[in-house]
Amino acid sequence: MKIRAQIGMVLNLDKCIGCHTCSVTCKNVWTSRDGIEYAWFNNVETKPGIGYPKEWENQDKWQGGWVRRSDGKLEPRQGGRLKILANIFANPNLPSIDEYYEPFTYDYEHLQNAPEMQTPPTARPVSVLTGKKMDKIEWGPNWEDDLGGEFSKRAKDALFEGIQKEMYSAFENTFMMYLPRLCEHCLNPACVASCPSGSIYKREDDGIVLIDQDKCRGWRMCVSGCPYKKIYYNWTTGKAEKCIFCYPRIEAGQPTVCSETCVGRIRYLGVLLYDADKIEAAASVEDPKSLYEAQLGVFLDPNAPDIIAEAKKQGIPDAWLTAAQKSPVYKMAMEWKVAFPLHPEYRTLPMVWYIPPLSPIQSALENGLIGENGIIPDVKDLRIPIKYLANLLTAGKEEPVVKALETMVAMRRYMRSKSVDKVINPAT
Ligand code: SF4
Ligand code: SF4
Repeated sequence: MKIRAQIGMVLNLDKCIGCHTCSVTCKNVWTSRDGIEYAWFNNVETKPGIGYPKEWENQDKWQGGWVRRSDGKLEPRQGGRLKILANIFANPNLPSIDEYYEPFTYDYEHLQNAPEMQTPPTARPVSVLTGKKMDKIEWGPNWEDDLGGEFSKRAKDALFEGIQKEMYSAFENTFMMYLPRLCEHCLNPACVASCPSGSIYKREDDGIVLIDQDKCRGWRMCVSGCPYKKIYYNWTTGKAEKCIFCYPRIEAGQPTVCSETCVGRIRYLGVLLYDADKIEAAASVEDPKSLYEAQLGVFLDPNAPDIIAEAKKQGIPDAWLTAAQKSPVYKMAMEWKVAFPLHPEYRTLPMVWYIPPLSPIQSALENGLIGENGIIPDVKDLRIPIKYLANLLTAGKEEPVVKALETMVAMRRYMRSKSVDKVINPAT
């Protein structure tokens, strides 16, 4: 058994309000530099939507992640090392700037220099790439949100005109949710396997995945190889960059910037212990629907005396052991089983986990699915289809998601009884 410690994150999607504070604070700290204007180490996607960059989940298009070969072994989807080396001058699977968006700023000077006019001047968008004024912005992260406003207006107009009532009621039954995303600091990182220069590495002590900027040669095979599309190419330095899990802050005992500034307090950080010898077997499990359970199988109980003794013997520091024992990530992922990895079928064993949303909680309340009236909630009636959540979090297996939602509903009712209704004595 090779015991390693890994820092991970759980995000409770029920509480994300899509405010983008996390993205903006992260950008201000890590990517407010030339050449990387379009990069968002943390972004918040509107789902269901095609995401950022466009269609990042389409692995056949980008050749990301790992595939299981007929002999059971894993191989990067781009092919083995020889194929990657052969392709370095012609990586065919790179998202273009259109798949992200044309970075822009605003013509702020116009606010100061505009000639006298009857209405206040506006600052028009200006392309960072060409320096030219832009008539309109064609695409950007959360485009679905922007279009949602337009669709809503059109649907209402149609209703007011007395036509297309069916279309409007179909519109009323649509759903959306927010999905904040960052590098998953995978246990089996495809970016590391894809790099011809060997410049990407996973830190032994905390599992944070970093790019050695001195070694990076800008081949960008990692950009295609990362199934989550969380590596960005810096056009000024000619190097690849990615989320560094705020390691200087982690080393100083502070949370990541996105966690500290999250308005909804949806992010939990914690340490997990895992058996590095089990990674390959877990990632190679044949049936994709079993990958989530296989991933659970690599983590170790940080309270088990034999694991503690072995971890100490292998040099895991006491502080990390204590952190693993108190880890909310371990509790939510392993004990309570309410948090899931994003797209386990990519076989990278991602370390940013998600608690599925109950639907817009308000609609669940209005439908009597949750509350004090004694109705046993049927999570299958929640507005966001279970199938959609299962495809996102458990490679399509619905049962664990249903159980997690039921646990969340029960917890919500319990906490409400205790703190709002005072039915349950908080002291008991
Ligand atoms: Fe590498 Fe992060 Fe992509 Fe995982 S999510 S493959 S660690 S860049
Ligand atoms: Fe969601 Fe928190 Fe980010 Fe706001 S700051 S979008 S609540 S994760």
